[in-house]
Amino acid sequence: MTDNLIATALESATDTRSIVIGKGVADQAGRVFTELFGDRRAIIVADGNTFAAMGGVVAESLREAGVEMIEPYLFPGSPTLYAGYSNIELLRDHLAPLDAVVVAIASGTLNDVAKCANGELGREYMVVGTAASMDGYAAYGASITKDGFKQTLSCPAPAGIVADLTVMAAAPTRLTATGYGDLIEKVPAGADWIISDELGIEAIDENVWALVQGPLREALSDPAGLRAGEGDSTYGLAEGLIMSGLAMQAYQSSRPASGAGHQFSHLWEMEKLGMDQDPPLSHGFKVGLGTVAIASLFEVLLTKDLTTLDVDAAVAAWPTREEMEARVRAVHSGDVVEPAVTETLAKYVDAQELRARLKVIKEKWPVIAERVRAQLLPAADLKASLDTVGAVTHPSQIGVTMDRFRQTYSRAQMIRRRYTVLDLLVEANLLDECVDELFAEGGFWAESQPPA
Ligand SMILES: [Zn+2]
Repeated sequence: MTDNLIATALESATDTRSIVIGKGVADQAGRVFTELFGDRRAIIVADGNTFAAMGGVVAESLREAGVEMIEPYLFPGSPTLYAGYSNIELLRDHLAPLDAVVVAIASGTLNDVAKCANGELGREYMVVGTAASMDGYAAYGASITKDGFKQTLSCPAPAGIVADLTVMAAAPTRLTATGYGDLIEKVPAGADWIISDELGIEAIDENVWALVQGPLREALSDPAGLRAGEGDSTYGLAEGLIMSGLAMQAYQSSRPASGAGHQFSHLWEMEKLGMDQDPPLSHGFKVGLGTVAIASLFEVLLTKDLTTLDVDAAVAAWPTREEMEARVRAVHSGDVVEPAVTETLAKYVDAQELRARLKVIKEKWPVIAERVRAQLLPAADLKASLDTVGAVTHPSQIGVTMDRFRQTYSRAQMIRRRYTVLDLLVEANLLDECVDELFAEGGFWAESQPPA
């Protein structure tokens, strides 16, 4: 079943040709290497920690497969490797004169660095994963800080992925929790895509949808087992994350795996929240909190009957293009302003287009609400699962005040052109009303407590 799913995913993947996932499979790295790269030479790229954990077994496997190796390239193991462009340049310049294929022993950041360095050189590489910490293994592109702000650089996904679940289950629980936070957002992200699909903005690709949503519930089903480092639970999580990456690779966009909950994280990344910590505040911790934020917002939305939406009032309240730009400039600062203006205006519709869209929302609301309800899980359940696995579910855990958190609902809508529930609410002139309900007495965020 699972192997079939991976085989199907590989058919539609553009870069990745081989995936081995299972307990104790690190010793298959050599076989995967020769299948992909024949008699080429290999260079292991790792950091002090990943090399200490797996360098021996990977090197041994390559040797047994008859692969010639040159001196490994090691980033310092501590402090934590920074996902900055300078590290890509370091690695790229080291690799450029060498005739060898990279075998990265890595989780999130180091894999992203290896991916981009190889991408810039136009070379393929493979990765041996060390933690189920993010969905980037099989994704094209990497999240890198360049020119002061975090951006997704486009570079091909690895040609081969070896995911040894014994190693991943033994990774620090912080890394597993962050992977869980990244994966759980696919629940409301699916609802965002449903809305976009129903409104004729971005149709759902059924094959890609199945790659992400098919294994998702199962992968999320045992947060307690994940926290305890159980191999079987880790399998589901690792598989779910890899499948999400393959889906993004096939779709050539992060839409299948990233909705409004991710936009909370992206905004905070652009605002450099927690970047000065070591290790920096993780992607999945921010995404997990964004997931609860958006799931609770969906719940308020679903209490409304949009078949009675007052279209004239919403159109009357709609800003002109210039007013919209002024709104964006008024609530953002620093490096966020210009990208936010660009993204917001890219999805701006004029009053006439807005009227047409609101009519569609009104007409289709019963269908939209039904499909969205079927996709979502209760926000309280999502929060409980994230608490169990040890992720972040309350703004106070990451130094965000309630006021800033509340503003994130409207500010996050402005930083990506991707259409989500936040856009539907802005266009229907309902966002402020719904957010107010979340923070008013009895509302989700008025009641919510950080984990004990
Ligand atoms: Zn993510």
